[in-house]
Amino acid sequence: MPGGYAGKVLEVDLTTGKIANKPLDMKEAQMFIGGRGLGAKWLWDRTKPGGSPFAPDNPLMILSGPLNGLPAPATCRTIVVTKSGTTFPKANPKTAGILHTTTGGRFSPELKFAGYDAIIVTGAARSPVCLVIEDDKVEIRPADKYWGMGNYELQMTLDKDFGPRWRSVYIGPAGENGVRYANIMTEIHRACGRGGSGAVMGSKKLKFVIVKGSKPLGIQNPAAWKKANISAYKNMMSSSGSFGFADWRRLGTAMVLSGASDWGQEACYNFREGTYDKIDGMEGETAIRNLWVGNDACFMCPIACLHKGVVRSGKFQGMTHDGPEYEGVMMGANCGVQDLAGWQANIAAADDYGLCYISMGNVLGFLMECMEKGVITAADLDGIDLKWGDVDAMLEIQKKVAYADGCGKLIGQNLRAMVAAWGKGCEAYAMETKGQGFAAWNIRAKGSTMHISYATANKGADHLTGGDIDTQNLRAMNDSLGVCLFPVLSGIKPEDLCALLNAATGFKLTMEDYWNTARRIYTLERSFNMREGFTRADDSLPARAWEPLTYGPYAGDKLTPEGFQKELDEYYKARGWDPKSGVPTRETLNKLGLGFVKI
Ligand code: SF4
Repeated sequence: MPGGYAGKVLEVDLTTGKIANKPLDMKEAQMFIGGRGLGAKWLWDRTKPGGSPFAPDNPLMILSGPLNGLPAPATCRTIVVTKSGTTFPKANPKTAGILHTTTGGRFSPELKFAGYDAIIVTGAARSPVCLVIEDDKVEIRPADKYWGMGNYELQMTLDKDFGPRWRSVYIGPAGENGVRYANIMTEIHRACGRGGSGAVMGSKKLKFVIVKGSKPLGIQNPAAWKKANISAYKNMMSSSGSFGFADWRRLGTAMVLSGASDWGQEACYNFREGTYDKIDGMEGETAIRNLWVGNDACFMCPIACLHKGVVRSGKFQGMTHDGPEYEGVMMGANCGVQDLAGWQANIAAADDYGLCYISMGNVLGFLMECMEKGVITAADLDGIDLKWGDVDAMLEIQKKVAYADGCGKLIGQNLRAMVAAWGKGCEAYAMETKGQGFAAWNIRAKGSTMHISYATANKGADHLTGGDIDTQNLRAMNDSLGVCLFPVLSGIKPEDLCALLNAATGFKLTMEDYWNTARRIYTLERSFNMREGFTRADDSLPARAWEPLTYGPYAGDKLTPEGFQKELDEYYKARGWDPKSGVPTRETLNKLGLGFVKI
């Protein structure tokens, strides 16, 4: 077995209770690397088109990459791949697109120390269960005692019952209750967000997976590893200015809270505006002065971009939670919030319930606009008079969603379900692509490329996929290697990662091979979606994209449908996809080693 990989895949069928180990197919590993890439290949192989994400045969895959657990910067990401709870083609809402989502923390390194590169969970238990892995000992155990717990209580209970050296991923009440934007979480605050991974896990009645390992991982070529690792560290530590190492450490993604507003690219008032008129007091420097008490880091990360906050006064006094980070804007400016502590309280509540706070914030902004425009009244929200900036009403709605209580049943589905239920033109306020709500970046200000990311991302309107092909390819590789994106934004080069991969595994990938692997992964994900019935028409933007911004330095900016379609034509051409249908051409598939793909 080459270094880097643990060499085994754990397969668990929760319907039959069968647990099996399979050796990792190294030919496949070299083609698809790990994490997101291998997940896409296995999802392609193991599913038939048209199935529900909540059917027992939808595999829930929790994966590592070949760099996870090794001593290089930020080798920490855990990757989940499954059919999405959120993303589906307009023509067939019963099926779903691919979901790939990652979280930081410490789970996937520990999984590899226990001897596994990935866990594939299929089937569904009859009553709540958990999966307990200690090296070669793997058990499915009852989890009734833990079912219903929020993530704070659950993490504390697991620390008590198993000990703090165990690492876990889990769902909160939102995942248990099938909220379509529920997350799988780890270490309370960290999330596999944007796609309902928690709802898929909940449909299997799997509350948590917990692991402890004691096995070493190998490195094929230690001298080459050392050289590549030194280069990666040097490139990261010597980066300066915006997005440099010091900024990332000091502020994390909160560094762009005020910048995005200045650039007209922030999500404000359900995306009506890109510049926030109440930005003062809602940016990183205020958090440093009034909220944060220290940094926190994922496995092997020298940046430590996460910040622990403590609310010092007011009705949320004493509340502790990580953040806010940039995407917290969805619970802030997007909902017209001005109250730092109330903002933080809403982020903390979402994390405790296991709701994706990006998606929840998107839905809350939509509801606020629907209330303002008279599409709905408080009666539609079980009496909650939801207005812009009302942090208490936001908390009430979140609770209803997490527990599928009253109006929360409908709101916990998705924007399209609410549009279908309420009508009255409210589609105009639903900011989504492929069913996935927009993240915290607005798209109309000149200079933004986020509209391409939102439109072409296989998981729907995703901010992390990348606004051009090169960025999308770079991120596909990061998510397959298991390395956090942020150190790469602050200086680590793809050449460093390729050298680390080769040194760890003994592969001999050139940079051309590296980028072709990224293209292969991205194109296979696209092929999966096309097999499920997506078409070019699903690479769409909502009507608000064509409305001008009215406030701030970018007032007047907007996109045009014609300009956008032209950009899509160019994008498909550069990807080797048919411009009419959006399907990858046979020539492209064959060139990328995807000859097995039939759509
Ligand atoms: S940069 Fe932040 S999110 Fe990424 S690994 Fe480091 S601490 Fe975790």
